[in-house]
Amino acid sequence: MLSHTNEQGAPIIVIMGPPGSGKGTQGDLLEHNGVLKKVSTGDILRSHVKRGTDLGKKVSAIIDAGKFVSDEILAELVECELNSLSKTPVLLDGYPRNEKQAKNFGQSKAFSRLIKVIFLSVSKDFLVKRLLGRLVCSSCGTTFHLKSLPPKLDGLCDGCGGDLISRNDDAKEIVERRLVQYEKETEPLLNYYNKLGLLETVDGRSDPKEVYVEIMSKINKITKNHRSTG
Ligand SMILES: [Zn+2]
Repeated sequence: MLSHTNEQGAPIIVIMGPPGSGKGTQGDLLEHNGVLKKVSTGDILRSHVKRGTDLGKKVSAIIDAGKFVSDEILAELVECELNSLSKTPVLLDGYPRNEKQAKNFGQSKAFSRLIKVIFLSVSKDFLVKRLLGRLVCSSCGTTFHLKSLPPKLDGLCDGCGGDLISRNDDAKEIVERRLVQYEKETEPLLNYYNKLGLLETVDGRSDPKEVYVEIMSKINKITKNHRSTG
């Protein structure tokens, strides 16, 4: 576990990245290897609903009514969770997601424990390709998959050399829209954390193992700096 606990409590690292960036995989690895405990808003929400806490009841009612849980309620849930884990190094996954949430988080007690924001950077084109792995030859109709059945030459049919195209344009549009929305919401956050000197960008396009090694080197660097200064 990350060791440099200060008087405010154990460190918190925020991990950010667009859908398909491999953020979930990295969070699982970090938790599995005992570096940090992963805390996501989804898990917190489910746990409160399951335990039937006051907040859980409120959340159930909102979800049953088909509405979104407000930033205020999320802030309350996250803060409560982080305060209950004051001695545990935490990887905060999926929060904050927008400026309002970042502002709420910035005003919380737990904010003093934030030591780094790791952003998994992956270009939109790359994500669309990763998320929509299915490819079809525009000439002969043979199907391929980028991951499970990749063509020998990138973008070209093994059989006839025709151009490979993504099969489902509707899905492509949905994925692209999600990514544009993500960028719109998170770009101000990245600027904000960068100004605070907290942002570390990691290239998310590499193999998950390599991405993990890079994240760990950033984390170790922070730990070392902290030790040498304090
Ligand atoms: Zn073909």
